[in-house]
Amino acid sequence: METVIDAVCPICNKKTLIYRVEELDIPHFGRCLQTTLICKSCGFRHADIMMLEVHEPVHYELKIENENDLYAKVIRSTSGTITIPEIGAKLEPGPLSEAFITNVEGVLNRFVDILVQLLHTYPSKREEILKLLRKIGHIRHGKESATLILDDPLGNSAILSEKVQRRKLTEEEIKNLKLGEFTIEIGKK
Ligand SMILES: [Zn+2]
Repeated sequence: METVIDAVCPICNKKTLIYRVEELDIPHFGRCLQTTLICKSCGFRHADIMMLEVHEPVHYELKIENENDLYAKVIRSTSGTITIPEIGAKLEPGPLSEAFITNVEGVLNRFVDILVQLLHTYPSKREEILKLLRKIGHIRHGKESATLILDDPLGNSAILSEKVQRRKLTEEEIKNLKLGEFTIEIGKK
């Protein structure tokens, strides 16, 4: 379903926004609504995912050990925080954060894209950033293992895999979840 909405685009200020709502039924996750705001003039896009069924604060942990794990599905709502401690990278909710449905490889690709941008913004950190990019390459080829952690206090996100570990987030963990887009601890091993 597509609706033209009467609001201006936050990027180009034109009244050319459309709102798309799609109901998805994802196996082992449930029914959810995927909503997307799209500007027909400049291409601005913002997506979100909302569960339609009962959900609770969740913590998912998946060990990425081989190339098969790259195909595990990842549903990240705007309230989800994705962390890969081995590369010190974190994708947190923020005003510009986007919801996405992808797989583990897609998440790694997003981190690669961000690191490549950082390479241009912080040329002095070149060595450290290249080291992280190499590490992601090793993880992708199963030469190094890593952990993909996904926390969502609203329960709208998930990692779908037979070996994923899932549990409820504790009150303490919910309090410690931050808002901040993307952080990476450059130089950390
Ligand atoms: Zn626009």
